[in-house]
Amino acid sequence: MARRPTRVPGVITMAGNFYSVRCGDCENEQIVFGKASTEVACAVCGTTLARPTGGKAEIEHEIVETVESR
Ligand SMILES: [Zn+2]
Repeated sequence: MARRPTRVPGVITMAGNFYSVRCGDCENEQIVFGKASTEVACAVCGTTLARPTGGKAEIEHEIVETVESR
């Protein structure tokens, strides 16, 4: 039985950090900037991982890790 990571429910709005996001469609993990100003698409399947909303990005998939900016 595979251990399931904790799922992050709903859409979370964040800014200022980088996030390791797991694509819900193909499970590719990709780093997304929390202030992305353009839509970020999964490099593997092209699903939108994050979209810009007035300076912050809404990340619509599971966040597996937060990478704080310094
Ligand atoms: Zn994908």
